[in-house]
Formats: sequence, C-alpha cells, structure tokens
Amino acid sequence: MLKRNKNIYYFSNKKLFIDLIVLVLFILFTATALIYLDAAERIYSFTRQHEELELDELILLLAISSIYMFLFILKRFMDLKELILKACTDPLLGLINRASGLEYIINEIKILKSSTSKSSLIMYDIDHFKKVNDTYGHDVGDYILKAVTNIVIRESRSSDISVRWGGEEFIVICPNTNLKNAVLLAERFRASIENYVFENHIKVTASFGVIELNKHEQSQEQLIKVDEYVYQSKANGRNQVTH
Ligand code: GH3
Ligand code: MG
Ligand code: MG
Repeated sequence: MLKRNKNIYYFSNKKLFIDLIVLVLFILFTATALIYLDAAERIYSFTRQHEELELDELILLLAISSIYMFLFILKRFMDLKELILKACTDPLLGLINRASGLEYIINEIKILKSSTSKSSLIMYDIDHFKKVNDTYGHDVGDYILKAVTNIVIRESRSSDISVRWGGEEFIVICPNTNLKNAVLLAERFRASIENYVFENHIKVTASFGVIELNKHEQSQEQLIKVDEYVYQSKANGRNQVTH
C-alpha cells in the first residue's frame, strides 16, 4: 500500500515538472509572438507586403501554441480523472473503496433528508475466510473474493452500490429500498453464495447485517449498528441475515 502511494507521488512529481516546462515554453512562445507583433506594426508602416508575411508567422505561432495548450489541459484533465478513479477504487476487486463508500453513505443520508423514500445498507463478511487462505493459498482466496462479489453484483440492481469495506467485509448501499426489501435482497445474496460451487469444489458462506438508513442519525452510529448485526449473525452460527 505504501509502495502504491509512493508511485502516485512520484507520478505527480514527474508530471508537475513537465507541466512547469510546458508553461515556461508557452510563456516564451507568447513573448516571442508579442515581439513579432511589435515588429509587424513597425513593418506595416514600411511595406504592406512585408507586414502580411510577418503576421502569417505570428498567427501560425499563436495557433500552434493555443492548440498545444488545449491538448495539454485536456491531457491533465484526463490524468486527474484517472487519479481520482484510482483513489476511489479497490485495486484487487475494482469495487468502490471504504473512503469513497463512506461518502456515498453520507450522501445517501443527505438525500433522505429531503425525500420520503427509504434506503438501506447491507453489510456482509465471508465466513471462516482465513481457513480458505490457509487451506488453498492467498491467490485462491483472492479469486474467492472476486467470485463472491461478482455473485452479489449479479443479484443486485444497477442502482445498488457495492463497497469493499475491509479485507473480506463488504457493504451494499441500496437506494430506494426499505428494510423489508433489503432483507429479502440480503437473503438472496446469502443463498446464492451458499449454493455456488467455486473452483476446486470450494464452498463458502457469508454472514449478513441489514439496516434501513435513518436520516436523523449520523453515518457512524448506523455503521456500528449494521456491524453489530453482522456480529450477531456470526455469533448465531454464521450464514444468516440479521436485522
Ligand atoms: P469469520 O467467520 O469470523 O469472519 O472468520 P474469518 O476467518 O473470515 O475472519 P478473520 O478476520 O479471522 O480472517 C479474515 C481473513 O481474510 C484474514 C485475511 O488474511 C483475509 N484477507 C483479507 N483481505 C484479503 C485479501 O485481499 N485477499 C485474501 N486472499 N485474503 C484476505
Ligand atoms: Mg470473515
Ligand atoms: Mg472480517
């Protein structure tokens, strides 16, 4: 993780250095253009033919530097978009990461304050996942994580947002979903995971907690509550949904 941050830092430094050089070049271009403009004005009073030649060069210079600046800004904009996407995404699973997921949850609570609709959170944690890693190795563990989240995404609606909350712990934000429907959805996730036969005939289960978001409560309190429900599912024998 440290290494990745360091790489992004290096990437930014290098780009900033290039930005600086390009900006200096642009200033030099503009200064030269202004000198030409001054020269062109003087030549205009001397010979009209000569003035046209100088102005053509000037226009070409300005056109080239403007196109260059446009492409330069466009490239920086795309780089920035890519960096923001990287900062919000879990690199292993391609899901929204915890920091970004928390923003989605806070935003969902904000939306609820100005509407009458209901939204819910489903949290789940894969059961005995350490045993999977210990028995089959870390790569197989990674594959199981991907496969489980794919099952959940396949069973979700397009408006549901899957978040990697921790190692083998996930949250699905379900907009416009009341508690009853969120529990049904979580039950569908649970059954699909339980019934799926992974490579090497591996079987896994997951424990779930479900809450309906309360617009009067802070996100942290509600996250503690849904986490407690996952803990209750574990304590009651795993592979179940608590709400
Ligand atoms: P429980 O049923 O109580 O949840 O037991 P558990 O074994 O699933 O829980 P525990 O917290 O003891 O272990 C979680 C394991 O998940 C340990 C950790 O190495 C593993 N893990 C976390 N992130 C990853 C990952 O990205 N890839 C792999 N392969 N394993 C991971
Ligand atoms: Mg677990
Ligand atoms: Mg866990």
